[in-house]
Amino acid sequence: MDTLKFVIVGHVDHGKSTLIGRLLYDTGSISPDKIEEIKKTSSDLGRETEFAYLLDHLEEERQQGITIDTTQVFFKSDKREYVIIDAPGHVEFVKNMITGASQAEGALLIVDAEEGIKEQTRRHAYILSMLGLKNAVVVFNKMDLVGFDKQKFDMLKKNAQEMMKSINIEVSSCIPVSAKRGDNIVNISKDMAWYQGPTVLEALDRLEKRVVKHDRSLVLPVQDVYKIDSKRIIAGRIESGAVRTGQEVRILPEGGATKIKSVEKFLEKRVSASVGESIGITTQDSVFLDRGSIICEDDKSLYLTQTFKANVFWLARDEFDKDKKITMRCATQEVLCSVERIKKRIDSSTLRVIENDANVLKNLEVGEVVIKTKRPIVVMEFSEMPEMGRFVFVRDDNVCAGGIVTGV
Ligand code: GDP
Repeated sequence: MDTLKFVIVGHVDHGKSTLIGRLLYDTGSISPDKIEEIKKTSSDLGRETEFAYLLDHLEEERQQGITIDTTQVFFKSDKREYVIIDAPGHVEFVKNMITGASQAEGALLIVDAEEGIKEQTRRHAYILSMLGLKNAVVVFNKMDLVGFDKQKFDMLKKNAQEMMKSINIEVSSCIPVSAKRGDNIVNISKDMAWYQGPTVLEALDRLEKRVVKHDRSLVLPVQDVYKIDSKRIIAGRIESGAVRTGQEVRILPEGGATKIKSVEKFLEKRVSASVGESIGITTQDSVFLDRGSIICEDDKSLYLTQTFKANVFWLARDEFDKDKKITMRCATQEVLCSVERIKKRIDSSTLRVIENDANVLKNLEVGEVVIKTKRPIVVMEFSEMPEMGRFVFVRDDNVCAGGIVTGV
């Protein structure tokens, strides 16, 4: 079955946890004893069943180390499996997305119908666009608090569409819901008969996955080089194309050329491997390469560069000073770089340009920048190949900014 990873973002208290709990409950993804537990917790507190507690339970399990995966929640529709990437805060979310720890393929923005779009909603939406997400489902929650009013919904929908248009995200559906009551999440609402569109689950099912192109040229960033017996195994994840034994390859930035001698996968005999796989290879000649080298085909589709345009989201508390050198990591490459220009300094919550040609970037600001690396590296535009188009800035081993390449 196909799997789609998506992220739910929105202002705190707008109902993210309740919506997740509701999706799990209404798709039958929770065991009966867990439901009992939540009902009991809720009634002990003198409240109606509170679906947000479901996430608290998962959180407790996480802390006790019961669930292995720390930030992911799973459920299924008839069409496919879903993984919700839980983003406890937008800083973690940006970090995870940019480091590739959890690449969301879809997004759902939740807005409290009574409160409307808030600063945090705007910032989260902006982050989605900055991370290259092209479309999103917008959910107006707590419709019960506004009397399930169609006019209210129409107004909210207009505002949301305008906001999303300004940041180039297409709104695939706007859905009026009550996560608490389960209206239009998996089951159709009886109180909003005026709404004819999809439920949240149907809207998710309609989201299209990014198509991985299989006919592309090989890109294999080297993660590590191991010596096992007399073999030198070069390990990495194929970010594009495929490898096969006998294939002629080139090594960047070192410049060597060789042929693939063998393709190695743990406990498997292989002659080839394709995009998305983590594998090992051996080469016919002992060419010079190391972690951070890129193995590719000799077809000139990949080239080295030292300057490129990017959007950088500054996450650290202390400000970034343009004149200071900083370490950049892209795929497995690590290189010292400098920011030549901060063309625009943008407030991520209001989306206003604070300054043109700035010298600093402050906490939670976005910079449209030009980066110059100390030595040549391989980068691609994020929209072309996300894995080679996103990077982080690190200082003392701490991620202090995330970015995407917008022009090479
Ligand atoms: P989060 O901070 O975005 O995860 O928000 P929660 O899911 O914790 O919800 C915040 C509050 O809103 C809780 O008290 C929920 O019970 C309440 N809430 C969530 N969904 C609804 C809804 O559809 N209607 C109403 N009336 N309250 C809701």
